[in-house]
This record gives sequence, C-alpha cells and structure tokens, in this order.
Amino acid sequence: MRVLVTGGTGYIGSTAVEILLSRGIEISILDDCSTGHADTVPAGVRFVEGSLLNSAQVAKALMQCDAVMHFAGKSLVGESVEKPDLYHSVNVNGTRNLLDEMRKQSINKIVFSSSAATYGEPKVVPILETSETIPTNPYGATKLAIDHMITAEAAAHGISAASLRYFNVAGALKADRGWLAERHNPETHLIPNVLRSTTENPVKIFGTDWPTEDGTCIRDYVHVIDLIDAHLKALDSLGNAGHQIYNLGSGSGYSVRQVVAAASAAIGHQIPFLDSPRRAGDPAILIADITKAQSQLGWEPTRDLNVMVSDTLKSMA
Ligand code: UDP
Repeated sequence: MRVLVTGGTGYIGSTAVEILLSRGIEISILDDCSTGHADTVPAGVRFVEGSLLNSAQVAKALMQCDAVMHFAGKSLVGESVEKPDLYHSVNVNGTRNLLDEMRKQSINKIVFSSSAATYGEPKVVPILETSETIPTNPYGATKLAIDHMITAEAAAHGISAASLRYFNVAGALKADRGWLAERHNPETHLIPNVLRSTTENPVKIFGTDWPTEDGTCIRDYVHVIDLIDAHLKALDSLGNAGHQIYNLGSGSGYSVRQVVAAASAAIGHQIPFLDSPRRAGDPAILIADITKAQSQLGWEPTRDLNVMVSDTLKSMA
C-alpha cells in the first residue's frame, strides 16, 4: 500500500511518515516546505516539493497511491485572523484541488486533519462530534468548510473519508535521524513556548480573565504518537463510501497555568511567565469527548501531559 502524506515535512506529517514507514506502508510526500523542513524526509521516500494549489504537482504526488493522509495546510489561529484570504486559499482551495486530482486518478480514501477549532466556543463540554460548529476564527472556518466539502464529495462520488478533529497536539517522536520536533518560526504553541521561557523573555499567558477556574484558557492535549495511531486506525476503517468525523484529544482539559506548572515540575524550577491580554480568536475551553474514536476505531490515547512535556523537552535539547 502507498499513502500520499500531504504536509509530510511538518511536525505532525513527518511523525506520520515515520510511523507509517515502520508499519511497512510506502510513502509519497507533497509539501511546499513553507513551514515544514525537507530535512525530515527519510531516504528513499518519494518527495514532491510542491503546492496543493498546483494541479500538476498534486497529480504527480498522487501517482500510484492508494490513499491520502492530508495534513498540509495553514494552522495558526492568530495568523488566520490577520490573513483570512491566505487561509481560505491554501486550506479550502488546496483541498478542492486535491480531491479533484484524487478523482481523476480514482483514489478514493482520505484521512483529513480537521480541528477542534471547527466547534468554536462550545455550549457544552466535553464536545461531541455532533456538537454545533460555529468557529470563532478563520482557521476553524476553513477546516469546517473542508469537512463539509468532503461530506459532499463522499455523497456525490463515493469516496471513503475520515476527518480527525485534533484538539491540542504535543510531544514528539524520536526517529533514527533525530527528534521530529515542532520547529515553527515563530513558535506560537504553548508547550514549546513554556519550555523556552526565560526571565528576559518570559512566555506570555494570553488572557487571565477567561470564565475558567484560574482565568486561563483550558485545552485538551494529545500526544502526537497517539494522534498518528488514530490515523492508522482511521485509514484501516475506510472502505465503504461515506464520511466519518472523530474527535482526537485525551478527554481531559488543562488550563494554561496548569501546563506551566507541569512544565515547571519537569524542568525542576518555576518557569517565568507574563500575564498578558487575550489572543484574538481563542475560545475559552476546548475539551474533547473521544468516545466515538474509542468505540468505533478502537483507539486509546496512552501518553499523558507529563509525557508530552518531557518528550517536547527532550526534542528541544
Ligand atoms: N497560549 C499562551 N501563550 C503562548 C501560546 C499559547 O497563553 O505563548 C495559550 C493560547 O491562548 C491557548 C492555549 O495556550 O489558550 C493553547 O494555544 P496553542 O497556540 O498552543 O494552541 P491552539 O489552542 O491555538 O491550537
């Protein structure tokens, strides 16, 4: 079996490539390396350095593939508020192009990286896949538009698809060639920023007046290795025409201050931080109900927040 991994040089995509290869799956990668790193591509893997928006490059990357894991896309909430047009173009138009090229080559299986940002500010937590979807930022709106596009594609053309709505992904996998770590510039994610915090440049806590117990946002963190395990299970589940949506998180929430405390415990001293204004586009609380992935895919996350923090720390060494 050969799988096209779009976004296969990024943090999550490169981890998927590594794990799929270890299961004997052949890989092709399509990535424009706008935020990923070509040095993560393992020797011998077919790599098309190109854009989802370029049909010829997408068609080339899809050759001889049986299925697609679609990670490529713009993924930062704050940036999406400033550049909604960029997010629509790359995420929505790029996925439209991918689905068109898949149809031309009769490739009908796709696992898509959707997001908890599709739900917006939930009325009830934990969040079910059937919860209302009212995104609070353009990033979430693009992921929701793609989920709808895939549902329509399955109905019209019989593809078999799974959208995986990620909550907050953290941790890292060590490959033979080194850690497949988050290497974003600038880094916007909480756990790497907390671990990099210094007295001169302390991590900012975005908002201390949220309607939560300690006033900081609550998120549900899932280890990247557990996340990719769910992708493999989702891929195995494909066959019949249709589109299933699954939440991927841990089912528990941690506030920003609790993450700072867990990281401080891992490092062995209090990490400096700076209470700061809210960040545009953030919802207060996101916690997943993961019952559907557990019961229908047989998936179980096994690595807790302490493992995520310590693996991230090791990956940064
Ligand atoms: N956050 C923060 N300081 C940072 C980065 C993030 O306080 O330097 C907060 C952010 O406002 C959110 C949570 O941490 O409430 C997780 O943010 P992240 O960017 O890691 O993931 P997101 O939830 O946006 O996908």
